[in-house]
Amino acid sequence: MTITMKKRDEVKELIALRSLHYRLTLSEKDNKRYANIVKGFEGEKRFDQLTEALQADIYLLHDICLDQNHSVFQIDTLLISEKEIVLFEIKNYEGDFLYESGVFRILSTNQEILNPLHQLNRSLTLLRSLLKRMKSNMTIKGYLVFINPEFTLYQAPADIPIILPSQLKRFMEGINKTPSVLSREHRQLAEHLLKMHLPHSPYAREPHFQYQHLQKGIFCPLCHSFMTRKNVLKTVCEKCGYVEGLDASIIRSTEELKLLFPDMRITRALVQEWCRVIDSSKTIRRVLAQNFTQKGSKKQRYYVDKLSESE
Ligand SMILES: [Zn+2]
Repeated sequence: MTITMKKRDEVKELIALRSLHYRLTLSEKDNKRYANIVKGFEGEKRFDQLTEALQADIYLLHDICLDQNHSVFQIDTLLISEKEIVLFEIKNYEGDFLYESGVFRILSTNQEILNPLHQLNRSLTLLRSLLKRMKSNMTIKGYLVFINPEFTLYQAPADIPIILPSQLKRFMEGINKTPSVLSREHRQLAEHLLKMHLPHSPYAREPHFQYQHLQKGIFCPLCHSFMTRKNVLKTVCEKCGYVEGLDASIIRSTEELKLLFPDMRITRALVQEWCRVIDSSKTIRRVLAQNFTQKGSKKQRYYVDKLSESE
């Protein structure tokens, strides 16, 4: 049975950029980055659907970030079977590409792109050192996966570790056919790696933006339109009809605010301005008090995460 030890989180950067995408007119560069991150994420999710459907006895760890001797590296998917550990680097490239003397090029323009095999090899090297330190002697392999069915790579030699869209199905069948029995050691290895995972990827970089430039209001989680008040207890999206409890809307918007502005003090007045459509300060105060920890004197009250001792 396939056991997922760690699911893929929707990267914070993706959530932040999505929020900015709708609240602010992003620069062309940030818009492009947003589109790239979304596309990459969609590719990874597509790969997850294939690996999650495997029948073999394996452990899966998605989207883990590790540190080997101060070199941080990110693994899209890690598969642990009885005999080997397999690392997957997933690319959602679309269109025709050419591989020539170790260089990837876009076929139509001949423009060279960053060689994704270098990234794979770096992660492999670091993972090998890390596992050696953990005294594991399992075989480690790595593959670059091109997940998009619209991707073609011309002149790809047979000896580079890539999996093309046309090979994915057979590759997965191969894993299913390989006998694998997991022991306690495998479990410990997976748990150990999970414990080393760095939840805040240093790769994430937020674009530059200011609070006052963002459009305020509560987002519909389904279609990303701004929601309005339905009644004292609910908000509604006029566009898609989604209805949400007022408390849930306030909590969700506050979390978004905290994600975008981690250094800002979350006060009742700030949340009220941010949500825009909730005129009762009493309601906001109640929701904040119930869902966050209150800090500061009554006049300068602010709210932090529950259980947070950092402030
Ligand atoms: Zn909606």
